[in-house]
Amino acid sequence: MGAKPILIVDNLKKYYEIRGSFLQVLGIKPPTYLRAVDGITFSIDRGEIFCLVGESGCGKTTTGRLIARLITPTSGSILYRPSDELKNYLESQGFTNEYIDLGKRYPKQIDKALRREIQIIFQDPYSSLNPRMKIKDILEEPLIIHGIGDKPSQRLETILKALQEVKLAPPEEFVERYPHMLSGGQRQRVAIARALILKPSLIVADEPVSMLDVSIRVEILQLMLDIKKSRNISYLFITHDLAVASYVCNKIAVMYLGKIVEMGDAEKVVENPLHPYTKALIESVPEPDPRNRLALRKIDIKGEVPSAVNIPPGCRFHPRCPFAMDICRREEPPMIEIENGHKVACWLYAKK
Ligand code: SF4
Repeated sequence: MGAKPILIVDNLKKYYEIRGSFLQVLGIKPPTYLRAVDGITFSIDRGEIFCLVGESGCGKTTTGRLIARLITPTSGSILYRPSDELKNYLESQGFTNEYIDLGKRYPKQIDKALRREIQIIFQDPYSSLNPRMKIKDILEEPLIIHGIGDKPSQRLETILKALQEVKLAPPEEFVERYPHMLSGGQRQRVAIARALILKPSLIVADEPVSMLDVSIRVEILQLMLDIKKSRNISYLFITHDLAVASYVCNKIAVMYLGKIVEMGDAEKVVENPLHPYTKALIESVPEPDPRNRLALRKIDIKGEVPSAVNIPPGCRFHPRCPFAMDICRREEPPMIEIENGHKVACWLYAKK
């Protein structure tokens, strides 16, 4: 404790311009905006698994893509604390700050060095691996791009170690296979090995188990937990599934329509949810015991998630919230801390 966070996200926004009407195309009428991420603030400590949880369209994947530098933010900052190796390199390039803003553009070599430190694991292990490449080539590609291992034999040694680390054994057999010769779980292990092979400090894992059979989800989650422990890696873990989040995460932030509505230690958020939306999400987690299922059924949220183009005024959850008051329809609730880092944005808890 006490160490500085590896990532500090401050008031991050990502808006997409939409010119849907003829007058908008001509520039006579101003464009409308899809507010995918609408001012979120959080930080991730080293060795921590930080979860973004929410329904599809809440902005969690966009946030992951912003942090992995696949897209650029509209505004706000994503401050990343580089490893000692990268820090030394950045200092040699004239960057002397403790943090580097991932939302900014940099010269090619710095971009490349940042890509090495921050890796992403995608949801779909069927489309994230090139079907025409052998596993050996898939894992060798990042090594060649980043100039790791002078000789093919050195690179092969690194590849075999990576496959062993993700428990694909014997690794000598797997290197010669193509992705179609592997199961979904094995493919996701290869995707994890590809992310790990560059020794990253931060991994963005976007729904890494949602397309896998339930029977192998726990194995992959356990593998990610083991790797976190052995390498002290930090994860931004994106999921729609609160049960998955509570299994792997240290902290949870619940997102709704581009905003974080509740955030805190995973245990506190799951056992003592504050926001009506978090409570509803927890109720939607399948409960095998029907008696508990009935006991949980306390919150009944109405309708569908509104479009991120027409975000309701005030609290954006108010059209669906059974507790909505007048102020909820007028003013956005501030994020307030209830206890030790457990925060919520809801007028039920804030001073009106
Ligand atoms: Fe419901 Fe109001 Fe709280 Fe929003 S601010 S979640 S509408 S009670």
